[in-house]
Amino acid sequence: MLAFSPAAERMFGFKAAEIIGHNISLLMPSPHAENHDGYLNNYLTTGKKNIIGIGREVAARKKNGTLFPVELSVGVLTRHDERLFTGFLRDLTTHRLSENQIADLQSKLIQLARHSAMGELATTLAHELNQPLTAIANYTLATRKLVTDLKPGEQTDTVLKLLDKSAKQAQRAGEIIRSIRTFVKHHENKFRWENLEDAVCEAVKIATIGTGNRPINVHINKPDPVPDICMDRIQIQQVVTNLVRNAVDAVRVKNGEHVINIEISRHGMRSVIVRVLDNGPGITPQIEKRLFESFNTSKPDGVGVGLAISKTIITSHNGYIRGRNRAQGGAEFYFILPIDSKAEEISS
Ligand code: ADP
Repeated sequence: MLAFSPAAERMFGFKAAEIIGHNISLLMPSPHAENHDGYLNNYLTTGKKNIIGIGREVAARKKNGTLFPVELSVGVLTRHDERLFTGFLRDLTTHRLSENQIADLQSKLIQLARHSAMGELATTLAHELNQPLTAIANYTLATRKLVTDLKPGEQTDTVLKLLDKSAKQAQRAGEIIRSIRTFVKHHENKFRWENLEDAVCEAVKIATIGTGNRPINVHINKPDPVPDICMDRIQIQQVVTNLVRNAVDAVRVKNGEHVINIEISRHGMRSVIVRVLDNGPGITPQIEKRLFESFNTSKPDGVGVGLAISKTIITSHNGYIRGRNRAQGGAEFYFILPIDSKAEEISS
C-alpha cells in the first residue's frame, strides 16, 4: 500500500503510518487475503479484469479483526512502467442494518396485525355472540312463563314457536364460534396445499361479521375450477380479510346499495387471481400514489398497515398485489398467486 486516506483510517482502525508498505490483503478476510496476490498476478499476466472497473460488494476486515460489508471499486492507472491500483470503498454496515431492520419490522408488523386482528375478532365475537345469547335467554324465559301458565291439554303452538326461535339462535351462535375456530385453528406459519375457495370464503365470513345491521351484498364467484394452491392459509386469509374489510369500510361511506364482489379464477396456466371489487367511492389520489406503503391511511382510526402487510405476504408467496379504481366507480384490489410457490420446500 502506497497511500491510505484519513477516511480509510477511520473505517479500518489502522493509522496510515502503520499500514503503508504492507500488503493490502491485510484488509481482507480469508480466503481472499491468501488469494489476493494470485488474483493480482492473474490480472497482470492475462489482463482479464474480475473486479477492476466493475465494483462489487465484498467483506472487509478491520484492524481488530471485525468483518464489515463494503462496496468496492478498483481503478488502475499506469505510471511509467508501474501499475497503480486505487480502491474506493463505501461502508455498507448501516445500509445492511437498515435492510435487516426493515425485514425485522415487517415480520413484527405481521405478528402485530395478527394479534390486533385476533383482538378485534375477539371483541366482535363477544358482541356478535351477545345478541343470539340474549335472544335465547329471553325466549327461554318467555317459554317457561307460558308453560307455567298453561292448563293441561291447552294449545302449545306458541311454546313450540318460541322453542324453535331459541334453537335457531343457539345454532347461529354455534356457527359464529365454529367459523372463528376454523380460522384460528390453522394459525401456523406453514405452506401447504390448500383449497383456495374454502380459505377465501372463511376469511370473507370473518371479515363481514358485524355488518348484519347494515347489510352488504357480498357475492363470491368462481367462474372456473381452481386447483389447490401451495400457500400459508392463515396469511392468505389475512390478506383477504384486509381487502374485504377495506371494501366494507369503503362502501359504508356511501348511501344506497352496498355491493362487494369477490372473484376467484385461474390466471394463465400456473397462477390464480383473487379479486375484490366494491362500489364504494374509490381510492383517493393522495393514497393511491403510496397505496401499499405503511402508515398510509385516509381513515380517522386507520393505522395504514393492512395493505403493506398484504403486500409482504403476497410477495413472500412469489405473487403480486395491485389496487386501482374501476371505470364504473369503486375500487378493485386483486392478488395473483402462483399455484406451486414453495412446493419444493413442502415436498423436501
Ligand atoms: P387502513 O385500513 O388502516 O387505512 P390499509 O393499508 O388497509 O390501512 O389501507 C390504506 C388506505 O387505502 C385506506 O386508508 C384507504 O384510503 C385506501 N383503501 C384501501 N382499500 C380501499 C377501497 N376498497 N376503496 C377505497 N380506498 C381504499
